[in-house]
Amino acid sequence: RPLTTAEIRERYLHFFETKGHLRLASHSTVAPDPTTLFTVAGMQPFKENFMGAPAVFDGQASKRVTTAQKCVRVGDIENVGRTRRHLSLFEMMGNFSFGDYFKRDAILWAWEFLTGPEWMGMDKDKMYVTIYKDDEEAFGYWTQEVGLPASHIHRFDADENFWPANAPLEGPNGPCGPCSEIYYDRGENYGDDTWADYYQTRESARFLEVWNLVFPQYDRQDLGADGNPVLKDLPFKNIDTGMGLERVASVVQDVPDFYSNDVFKPIIDRVAELSGKPYEGETSVSHRVVAEHIRSVSMILADGVAFSNTGRGYTTRKIARRAIRHGYMLGFREPTLYKLVELVVQGMGEAYPELKQNQSKVEKALQDEEARFLRTLEGGIERLNTGLATELLKRGILTTNNLVDEDEVQGRRIYFAEQAYAKAAEMLGDEAKVARAAYSAARSAGLLQEGMEFVPVTRSSEKDVDFDAHVISGADAFELYDTYGFPVDLTREIADEYGVSVDEAGYAESLEHAQEVARAGSKYGKSELFGGNQEALEGLPATEFIGYDHLEGEGQVLALVGAGERLSTLGAG
Ligand code: ATP
Ligand code: MG
Ligand code: MG
Ligand code: MG
Repeated sequence: RPLTTAEIRERYLHFFETKGHLRLASHSTVAPDPTTLFTVAGMQPFKENFMGAPAVFDGQASKRVTTAQKCVRVGDIENVGRTRRHLSLFEMMGNFSFGDYFKRDAILWAWEFLTGPEWMGMDKDKMYVTIYKDDEEAFGYWTQEVGLPASHIHRFDADENFWPANAPLEGPNGPCGPCSEIYYDRGENYGDDTWADYYQTRESARFLEVWNLVFPQYDRQDLGADGNPVLKDLPFKNIDTGMGLERVASVVQDVPDFYSNDVFKPIIDRVAELSGKPYEGETSVSHRVVAEHIRSVSMILADGVAFSNTGRGYTTRKIARRAIRHGYMLGFREPTLYKLVELVVQGMGEAYPELKQNQSKVEKALQDEEARFLRTLEGGIERLNTGLATELLKRGILTTNNLVDEDEVQGRRIYFAEQAYAKAAEMLGDEAKVARAAYSAARSAGLLQEGMEFVPVTRSSEKDVDFDAHVISGADAFELYDTYGFPVDLTREIADEYGVSVDEAGYAESLEHAQEVARAGSKYGKSELFGGNQEALEGLPATEFIGYDHLEGEGQVLALVGAGERLSTLGAG
């Protein structure tokens, strides 16, 4: 029997106890310092200790500690359900040294834990690592002491092998340093790329990053007057490591992704049971999003965060609403997702007792949010369908003349005329999409009235033509958001289902305009928003630092969060 996730967590903590580490409880998902809203890494509660503060915890002095830290990375949300490696909530296993052991031990112990037969027993030949470009010391330990072939090592610049990524140039200020990361080759079934390719692509489903060994030895300061990074030496050299518990569990349990492991499988199964939709095919994304997001939201709510229209509560709401929307796609029309909280508690309540203690509070908050957002969704989807159909009509893709057979309208049946259907099929490329577009068009044209039955002509289309034209204008997408609280990523997803897209530039423009208006009426300047004042972060949603992962193409998330104030002003959602 493969190890369970709980067993792996326990083994990790125990392993580092045998190496003289003090085991500490996870910090809350609410960040301990104001650089982020949520805790994004195991090191975050220990920043002061890296900077020289005495390493004393609950009265116990120890320069070595180990934790399982629950982390929330908002920047990874949109990857959830789509990539195999990202969760919005995950457990980062960590071992930390405050001016005690350094690179050599960190590297050798990580290797021992992953490959030691009595620990994780992972295959040594499938291990690959990356190092910071000129880190000869790390290179030496990996090649000479561990015995890793040089062909299994890549050297990267600060964008990959410095933590936080690109910190020298971009910050945030505080402890940072070069890092060395460990990857596991999941094999050809996951991708046909090679480790050499990874140097170029930096993206692989096959080579899975499992552990980051960070060597914090600098205190990053503001850029110097010459615009160059200023890295001050910390009082001593530290170790900060982060091993992704769920990723290692996937490897050890030999399952293709998180959703087949012992933590998620029961939740996925329950989603299938509640919805009556088996976990397979296209809709399986929705099962995954629901399972993952409900786990996250449960943990965050259990940590005392409440849904709101600003700051942390807004981000939490955004995660919950993405889950609710996917639940809607699975057919849930009444609050249902709160029933999954119980399974999250069963799976993680042992390690995180706060979940158990707050179960009923969490369920209640989620149920209320579901009721609220399902109503909003109905309104938004209605509008979106109408808008979409109107646009299709305007462009002559559909016409009311050939859309319906007039006689049949009277006879409570609407048929989609052959000609229009063929044209739409060509543009939209998929029968289901055509049927929905036709339905929308019929409604918006006022042809489908209460009590009428909609029966689209079915026929399969061999054509699969991309329809790249923007069908939903930026202004419409923004209005949906602004007045209905209908997030643009959901609009985007729905548009995508129809095979059409949102005018992103137009949306950005509308958003920018609204933000300017909001900013003009705000008492905080822009710099203060990034300045780290917790009160400002909490009270003012015009901008929110979404975590160190913001470089991963998540500008949109930042923008979205930014519009929170407008949402609250209008009292939507
Ligand atoms: P990736 O490149 O895959 O996004 P990362 O480099 O951003 O990961 P780190 O900041 O180095 O991740 O975090 C340390 C470890 O935490 C990673 O090696 C990985 O095992 C795990 N981890 C990071 N992000 C996630 C996530 N979104 N879901 C699950 N595990 C994660
Ligand atoms: Mg990485
Ligand atoms: Mg990393
Ligand atoms: Mg990342």
